[in-house]
Amino acid sequence: MRSYSLMEPGKPFQAIDKPDPVPTGTEVLLKVTRAGVCHSDIHISDGYFDLGGGKVLNIVDRGQKFPITLGHEVLGEVIAAGPDAKDAPIGKTMLVHPWLGCGECSACKAEQENHCPTMRSIGVFRDGGYATHCVVPHPKYLVDIGNVDPSIATPYSCSGVTVYSALKKALPIRDDEWLAIMGAGGLGLSAVAIAKAMGVKNIISVDIDDSHLTAAKDMGATATLNPKSTDSAVAALQKLAGGELRAVVDTVGGEATANLGIAAVRKGGRYVIVGLYGGQISISLPTIPMRAVSILGSYVGSLDELKELMELVKTGTVKPIPISTRPVETAYDTLQDLKAGKIVGRVVLTND
Ligand SMILES: [Zn+2]
Ligand SMILES: [Zn+2]
Repeated sequence: MRSYSLMEPGKPFQAIDKPDPVPTGTEVLLKVTRAGVCHSDIHISDGYFDLGGGKVLNIVDRGQKFPITLGHEVLGEVIAAGPDAKDAPIGKTMLVHPWLGCGECSACKAEQENHCPTMRSIGVFRDGGYATHCVVPHPKYLVDIGNVDPSIATPYSCSGVTVYSALKKALPIRDDEWLAIMGAGGLGLSAVAIAKAMGVKNIISVDIDDSHLTAAKDMGATATLNPKSTDSAVAALQKLAGGELRAVVDTVGGEATANLGIAAVRKGGRYVIVGLYGGQISISLPTIPMRAVSILGSYVGSLDELKELMELVKTGTVKPIPISTRPVETAYDTLQDLKAGKIVGRVVLTND
């Protein structure tokens, strides 16, 4: 097999050739045919997350080991299985649920591995999809994609399930209420499309780039707001929603979007933060109970949520985000293009 691996933070990936893995126990081996390039790979590749106020979260302190093969949106053909991998779908192309936990804690036992304190996610803490092959510890993490195009299906395992899980926390939103989605990048566009398919009628897309807002309109946003075009973004957002902004899903997670979202949401509303841009904010505490605002964090999604999302996608009601494909050996250069803001929608690496 060949992998394109991160040897140390801040350095280009290195091509490494080694013998094909032989799955043991419950493991299954996939021949990777698609791997999505996600914004969070930039943080791991750079070696840190910005916590705001000049503080950073170093990924080595978070338990990161090197070398590591990134790529947590993985899709491929199951080509081998260990002796205990019962009913492994050999020969089938499957989407991998990458958000694995320890398997022992209460969150893992409740099938919420994305809330495990010691996650072992594929493409983050275990080798992922920027490679010809990928080992998955159990066939239960393989999700059927039906007749969905493999390139379109791939990003649902990260950006898709991430916004799906955040949207579930933002719902219910009635037909006379509004949802604002902060950011119209890969996550934000996906959030508009999935919110529509989940039945949300009124959606405002918020972004500081007009071309992103045009893309959000194409995905089904009812209205758009560029905060740069107004003196008071809070008032403009509340006015667009007619005073009925029930929930905000923040796919950016920066200081400006958090301040705007929390201030604009109506009494009894919900602000769900899912983006990892970084920074810090200051909130006047009495306003939280007096406005009865819920502030919720959402981190990726559970296996059940990915299965629910794929069932929704199979109905044909989720409009796909713009997808372009590149060969897997461009993984590092693609990540640099993503960092430089040169990519609209999602790049999926191919390995056919
Ligand atoms: Zn991701
Ligand atoms: Zn656990």
